[in-house]
Amino acid sequence: MTERLFTDTGVADNLARIRESIADACALAGRRQEDVQLIAVTKTVDAARINEAIAAGVHQIGENRVQEYCQKRPLLSDECGLVTHLIGHLQTNKVNQIVGKVDMIQSVDSFRLAERISRASVGLGIVSKVLIEVNIGAEEAKSGVEPDKLSELLEMVAGLPGICVRGLMTVAPILPSETEKRKVFSRMYQLFVDNRGKNMDNISMQELSMGMSGDYREAILEGATMVRIGSAIFGNRNYIK
Ligand SMILES: *Cc1c(COP(=O)(O)O)cnc(C)c1O
Repeated sequence: MTERLFTDTGVADNLARIRESIADACALAGRRQEDVQLIAVTKTVDAARINEAIAAGVHQIGENRVQEYCQKRPLLSDECGLVTHLIGHLQTNKVNQIVGKVDMIQSVDSFRLAERISRASVGLGIVSKVLIEVNIGAEEAKSGVEPDKLSELLEMVAGLPGICVRGLMTVAPILPSETEKRKVFSRMYQLFVDNRGKNMDNISMQELSMGMSGDYREAILEGATMVRIGSAIFGNRNYIK
C-alpha cells in the first residue's frame, strides 16, 4: 500500500459527510442518490478553496453575484467539466454580462427578466436554461414569484425564444422543526408536479432546486433534485473582505 499525503482543510471531510447524509436521506425517501445533484454554493469563497472542493469531487457550483462569478470563473479548474449556476437575484442590467457564461440561471422571477434573458440569448444564438424562483413562504423581503402567480408566469415565458425553463427553485423560510420544513418543501413539490403535467412550449419541468445547509435533508425527502449547499461545505461565510 502506498501512503497518500493530503492537506486536510476540512472541505473534503465536510463533503464526505454531506454526501453520506444525502445518501441517507435518499435511502429514507426510496430515491436514487444520482437523482439528487449537489451544487456547492461558493459565494465569498476564494478560487483556491473552490478548487479544493472541485478536487474533492464537486462538479457543480452556484454563485450569487454576476461580478464575483465572472472574476472567479477563469481561475476555477475545469478538467472534469464544471457546471455553473447563477442562484442569486439577477438585475436586468446585468443580464448581458451573464448570459452565455453560466450553465443555468436559477433565479428568474419576473417576465421582464425572462424577456431580457431571451433577447440576450437570441443575440448569441443560444438557448439559456433557467429555473423559475418561487417565494414559497410568501416572505416580504424575498425574491421569487408568488406561488399563485407561477402558472401565469410560466405561460408567458413559454412564448419566449432562446430560453428553456427546466424547473423551479426556492429559498425556503427558516423554520424550527423538521415537520414544518417538510410541509413547505412538500408544497413546492406539489407546484412542481402540477406544472410538470401541463404541456407548454420551452418548458420542461425536470429540476426542483431546494434545500440548503440547514434543510437539505428535508428537501430531499420531499423531492428536491438539486440541493444548494454552502456553509456546510466551506464553513461560515465572511462577508468582510
Ligand atoms: C447562500 C445560498 C445558498 C447556500 O446557503 P447555505 O446555508 O450556506 O448552505 C443556497 N441558495 C442560495 C440562493 C443562496 O443565496
